[in-house]
Amino acid sequence: MISSSWKKSRYVTAIEVESTDTLLLFAGFAGRLVEVPKAYRQAAYDLLEAPNTSDTSRHITLHKIFREQAVIIPEEFDELDYLRQQHEQAKFVPTGVLSLTICPTLNCNFRCSYCYQHHPAGIMAQEIQDRIVRYVKGYSPPLEKLFVTWFGGEALLELPVIERLTERFLASPTDYNASIITNGSLLSAKVSKRLLDLRVTWAQITLDGPREVHDSRRPMAGKHPSFDRILGNIAEADPNFTITIRVNVDQRNVDVMPKLFDQLDNAGLLGRVTVYFASVTPYTNVCADVTDHCMTGQSWARVESPLQLLALNRGYGEPGLPRARRNVCLADRASAMVIVPSGLIFKCWNDVTDPSQAIFDLSRDKRTPTMEENLTRWLDWGPFNFQDCEACTLLPVCMGGCPHVSIGQGRGACKELKHNLKETILLHYLGQKRKQASRQLVEILEQRAPKNFDSLSPS
Ligand code: SF4
Ligand code: SF4
Repeated sequence: MISSSWKKSRYVTAIEVESTDTLLLFAGFAGRLVEVPKAYRQAAYDLLEAPNTSDTSRHITLHKIFREQAVIIPEEFDELDYLRQQHEQAKFVPTGVLSLTICPTLNCNFRCSYCYQHHPAGIMAQEIQDRIVRYVKGYSPPLEKLFVTWFGGEALLELPVIERLTERFLASPTDYNASIITNGSLLSAKVSKRLLDLRVTWAQITLDGPREVHDSRRPMAGKHPSFDRILGNIAEADPNFTITIRVNVDQRNVDVMPKLFDQLDNAGLLGRVTVYFASVTPYTNVCADVTDHCMTGQSWARVESPLQLLALNRGYGEPGLPRARRNVCLADRASAMVIVPSGLIFKCWNDVTDPSQAIFDLSRDKRTPTMEENLTRWLDWGPFNFQDCEACTLLPVCMGGCPHVSIGQGRGACKELKHNLKETILLHYLGQKRKQASRQLVEILEQRAPKNFDSLSPS
């Protein structure tokens, strides 16, 4: 018997998987996926149509699952209002979980053709490091967790800064973890081990396609090629160090990706790295020379899913399930910021070389009127400023898209998910199913292996 009144969440996407007679329900409000087998499909549709149905035991069983996964919600619950409140809270109320992106330097040893950053030399001075540590110690509310992303320029050009700051973060009782965005050229086996000691457990490294394409677009300063060096470093890196390869894609390299996977295989990286694709985005004037080649929105969505399928089929991972979020990034989160070597603080990674966009000056412990205006611009932004976003069924997993782009265009910056949500969920589902099948296969093989299997191996 179902007592209370329930309604369908406005953020449910239904996907029929005809090949297995399965219904998938993606509950965007909680970012959950419910797999409904054939026998329960009619009951599922009944509940989506009339969520208080309790005619059969199948309705009752599914009702419980649907409630737990936020496919159905209490009649009186206002999802939009809840999302608005959560968004405002994340934007204005600091929490005990602080995310800092720290650039030990803005210098870089690469000269990428589309890079939006200028590369001023200079490293973070001891005085600024001291101020960061003081800021973290005095943070209110008291910190439960500190998460640092090391960014640049190329952060590994200044490993000693990372070492000194980390040692001081680790000296406090706060839970501490870190990741790094690096071009991979300096990530030797020794450096990867050192980073693990420094609680850096994950790295993102960018490639631009197979060797010849990558080397023409991402040469080192002095025009030296970087592809083989990066792949060699990844192969030698400590196996406990998790590495994700981001592949920058535009119209000029979209067709050559199968070759990239051949080269990753040849370098022994199958099973070692996961790969995802990102469109090169023309954020600032510095990359305007590639604007015509960039793919965004629908055109990118059309390309992204086939590329992700290629990565999945080649054994380099599947996309994650779209995550339920209440804010987008550090730009619309109170407890998050970017700090550059001069001590200027920003709200967006793309601003790090533009002092006019800073929101605070840590070196002088001061916020100027211009900085106040900059901060207000970020705080005033939100998906609830836009009717399209308020009405959008993707809102809980998109939340208005990149605030930087959205502010520029005066409307939500729709994620490619707007155009390929179903494909992304299916790719995720397929990847999970394959993993499950291979785990089962391994279990069967282990059970069937002779007890003295090891002694049968050739010596
Ligand atoms: S505002 Fe956009 S570009 Fe800036 S950090 Fe957020 S998602 Fe990235
Ligand atoms: S930015 Fe686009 S996809 Fe995102 S919530 Fe707004 S309308 Fe939906």
